[in-house]
Amino acid sequence: MQISLQHQVALVTGASSGLGAGAAEALAEAGAAVVVNYNRHAEPAEALAERIRENGGKALALQADVSQEDQVEALFARTVETFGALDILLANSGLQKDAATVDMTLADWNQVLQVNLTGQFLCARAALRQFIKQGPRPWVSRAQGKIIHMSSVHQLIPWAGHANYAASKGAIDLLMRSIAQEVGGQGIRVNAIAPGAIKTAINQDTTQGEKGQRLLELIPQGRLGEVQDIANAVVWLASDASDYIHGTTLFIDGGMSLYPGFKDNG
Ligand code: NAD
Repeated sequence: MQISLQHQVALVTGASSGLGAGAAEALAEAGAAVVVNYNRHAEPAEALAERIRENGGKALALQADVSQEDQVEALFARTVETFGALDILLANSGLQKDAATVDMTLADWNQVLQVNLTGQFLCARAALRQFIKQGPRPWVSRAQGKIIHMSSVHQLIPWAGHANYAASKGAIDLLMRSIAQEVGGQGIRVNAIAPGAIKTAINQDTTQGEKGQRLLELIPQGRLGEVQDIANAVVWLASDASDYIHGTTLFIDGGMSLYPGFKDNG
């Protein structure tokens, strides 16, 4: 199986770090022109875009806060202005504002929902509008556009102390499947990835030291995930190699969602 995303245009949100940066780089290696979206950290996003260009690829770093409608609209408009089309959206931006529910502020609840859920809705809507406007591009892909939502194992596994985050990811599941049901007939593919514990900035408190050791007990494969584990799946899900995959969440978690606590009869 050979995967090529030549002549395709991909937009990755939250690509200045972690999974977004890894996926943007992998999409570019597979031949896609890539928009590296960032919110606050211009420097690593610009450096990533520059590295892709130095390696012979096409990339542009663009600022936008995905929770703001006008900024999302401008981001997609600049993407199409620059590269002429859009074929792949990886709606990846996300954040955590952790607290026990009794202590959680409304501001922290709202911010997590606005970025993790509303941001994914705004980006998916903008991508769908562009896919429909530009029409099929059969010389680059069988699908008329592909959307990949970045979810989490916590769309399934409850997470005490993170009710806002788990609620946002649970909602991604039905957002993704509802959109998939709606647009499947138009040849647009919509899926999600649910990572387990992957070593990035978002979870550095829980993946290191004693907490990191305890975390490993929740992972049947006995290791944390790597950014490349997710990036490989993003490229595959964005490609025609997965053309019949639609409305599915791919769990990439070393088995974390198998509830390993029940292994010895609970
Ligand atoms: P990260 O903190 O490195 O990446 C999150 C990115 O989102 C950052 O680049 C951040 O700048 C960006 N972002 C935050 N608010 C934004 C906004 N308003 N507009 C645009 N961008 C914004 O962490 P990560 O692990 O790479 O997380 C990426 C995604 O993967 C998130 O949706 C996260 O929930 C999900 N995820 C990660 C893990 C993991 O173990 N790392 C597990 C499950 C799910």
